[in-house]
Amino acid sequence: MKTYDAVVIGGGPAGLTAALYLVRAGVRTLLVEKLSPGGQVLMTEEIENYPGFPKGIKGYEMVDLFVEHLSSYQLDRISDEVRTIAHEDGVYRLSIADEVVEAKSVILASGARYKRVGTPGEELFTGRGVSYCALCDGNFFKGKTVAVIGGGNSALEESLYLSRLVEKLYLIHRRDEFRGAKCYQDKCTTHPKIQVVRSTVVDEIVGDPFKGVTGVKLSNKKTGEKSELAVDGVFVFVGFEPVASFVPAGLACDKSGFVITDCEMCTNLPGFFAAGDVRSKNCRQVATAVGDGATAATAAYAYLEHLHA
Ligand SMILES: Cc1cc2nc3c(=O)[nH]c(=O)nc-3n(C[C@H](O)[C@H](O)[C@H](O)COP(=O)(O)OP(=O)(O)OC[C@H]3O[C@@H](n4cnc5c(N)ncnc54)[C@H](O)[C@@H]3O)c2cc1C
Repeated sequence: MKTYDAVVIGGGPAGLTAALYLVRAGVRTLLVEKLSPGGQVLMTEEIENYPGFPKGIKGYEMVDLFVEHLSSYQLDRISDEVRTIAHEDGVYRLSIADEVVEAKSVILASGARYKRVGTPGEELFTGRGVSYCALCDGNFFKGKTVAVIGGGNSALEESLYLSRLVEKLYLIHRRDEFRGAKCYQDKCTTHPKIQVVRSTVVDEIVGDPFKGVTGVKLSNKKTGEKSELAVDGVFVFVGFEPVASFVPAGLACDKSGFVITDCEMCTNLPGFFAAGDVRSKNCRQVATAVGDGATAATAAYAYLEHLHA
């Protein structure tokens, strides 16, 4: 069985940064990524809010730069999925494909994903008009018409944020009443740019695969009436979930399943750190994921030094 001082799970911004800091510190490190490196950044057309790129940068170009930076260092990698992690006798045993790897410390950087609404056209147009991040993509819809799907705080807050940019916004909710805070409801329902569409589900997101979204097909749940709205973009806010089904027993998580850490990225388990979107926090961005990755690696290094002392 191979033994590592540190295993990093996930090759998004948090994991790639953690791996970079660990290998530069001379820590025997394994990076496990189930897909191509890059994580959610690969789903992002253009990143305009990462410092150092005043003209913005394509998501895939940013990933290429991250990977190129890491490629000059000696690092073991496995392109597969961590399926389970057991914590026994002070070490972590990770089952990856058909092998088991042992680690003195683990940095969990497996990210999170926006819950899909599950409507036809959603996957096809993700990154081409369908977005899950108003802060990231709102600017692309300046002066345009968009639909927001959802009825909780995120949908209401993000609608208010988007209303500062767009010309017109349809807020589509499957129920009669919103779940979000009353103050946000009041602001949305009285906002001149926001038209609330209640008791309605999106049957399909339509458009041109090359040009992007052109509209949404709707059904009124009470009357059964069908309709269509012309929109340039669709923002889906029906929840966000961590990718953390395989974590070791006893790891402390918040009520939504995000991993709880302190400000050094330490979890409640010794030698187990979490970084990036998988952890319980408010701001989920590339900049914060990179910061978490660096912090987690530094904490893991200190933990290993203490173990070896
Ligand atoms: C459409 C979209 C647009 C965005 N736009 C912006 C923007 O403009 N600016 C900005 O700052 N942020 C933006 N974000 C948010 C940003 O991309 C994330 O905050 C950031 O990528 C989080 O990094 P991470 O490393 O924590 O997780 P992720 O990027 O989610 O990476 C996690 C990685 O872990 C891997 N993984 C998961 N489970 C396993 C497993 N069991 N075994 C092995 N590997 C595993 C995944 O395959 C993935 O590659 C956007 C996000 C989306 C979805």
